[in-house]
Amino acid sequence: QPELAGDFGTLMVWADKVRRLRIRANAETPADCRTARDFGAEGVGLCRTEHMFFDAARITAVRQMILAADEKGRRAALDKLLPEQRADFTEIFEVMAGLPVTIRLLDPPLHEFLPHEEDEFAEVAAAAGVDVETLKRRAAELHEFNPMLGHRGCRLGVTYPEIYEMQARAIFEAACDVAAKSGAAVVPEVMIPLVATKRELELMKAVVDKAAEAVFAEKDRRLDYLVGTMIELPRAALKAGEIADAAAFFSFGTNDLTQTTLGVSRDDAGRFLTTYVDKGIYATDPFVSIDVEGVGELIEIAATRGRATRPGIKLGICGEHGGDPASIRFCEGLGLDYVSASPYRVPIARLAAAQAALKK
Ligand code: PEP
Ligand code: MG
Repeated sequence: QPELAGDFGTLMVWADKVRRLRIRANAETPADCRTARDFGAEGVGLCRTEHMFFDAARITAVRQMILAADEKGRRAALDKLLPEQRADFTEIFEVMAGLPVTIRLLDPPLHEFLPHEEDEFAEVAAAAGVDVETLKRRAAELHEFNPMLGHRGCRLGVTYPEIYEMQARAIFEAACDVAAKSGAAVVPEVMIPLVATKRELELMKAVVDKAAEAVFAEKDRRLDYLVGTMIELPRAALKAGEIADAAAFFSFGTNDLTQTTLGVSRDDAGRFLTTYVDKGIYATDPFVSIDVEGVGELIEIAATRGRATRPGIKLGICGEHGGDPASIRFCEGLGLDYVSASPYRVPIARLAAAQAALKK
């Protein structure tokens, strides 16, 4: 760990001796994964796959998939994306070999995928072999006034299961290949986003399990893997007892959970929250430190209910709060298993986890 040499490195060694919480990183590129490992991350807690879909070289295929009129059209675009997704995961599994990697299936607000410019429509039309006017009509049908509360997360997977099927196939093909080549343990944890009900998770878990079985049969190799869910909606926190029936782990998405619990947009909040903190309405910026009395209570409810159904269920957090010392103290208090922070915040998370353990 070259970046953590000298006195700072020594401090990290001391921190690791006393901390109980595991520290993972939010990373979706091999470079970020390498940085995370160098800084001492013990796994990837959140790999946001939508970031892979915005790559300039593939956005046309992604748009083709979203705008396709039917499953056949979507599958044609997904066939182009599968080898690229497999390569994405292969590199990540190679860098993280021996450590768990939580891969979250697609969770974009849909409008981020839609073409806007004439030349973008023309490119998709040429790739899909349809006319531009048809595509524009379809884009208009998909338009949403509130995309963050719309057709995103598992809702996309429920409507278009073939997207999640392609991603699951890419994950298991990559995992089997890396395990065969390196001999190291490859530990995929497949995470379903924006779940509100147990049924959503059951449907998406069935898609993932089916893809896993198909790949294991083709490769003549089995791997251990987990399927779990984000808890990032108040309803999911309240129904965590039911949801835990279908989830091997929960990862608290404190960005969306804060947004939906407080009814404050995570993208615009900065405009008035400073006034709110100045006037004592919130103790601190709830998007920086967990709002213990609101969001925190929901996390506690979900942890308690989840554990009642599935004792020992793996629990972590992967929102921005995962790198915030006060929030890490809160997570230690609840006995969560890990926090996941951006790679450069991994060292501070290690230190904060140690301080929280000492305090406890
Ligand atoms: C979250 O909502 O806290 C989360 C980690 O997911 P994202 O930020 O990608 O919505
Ligand atoms: Mg989220």
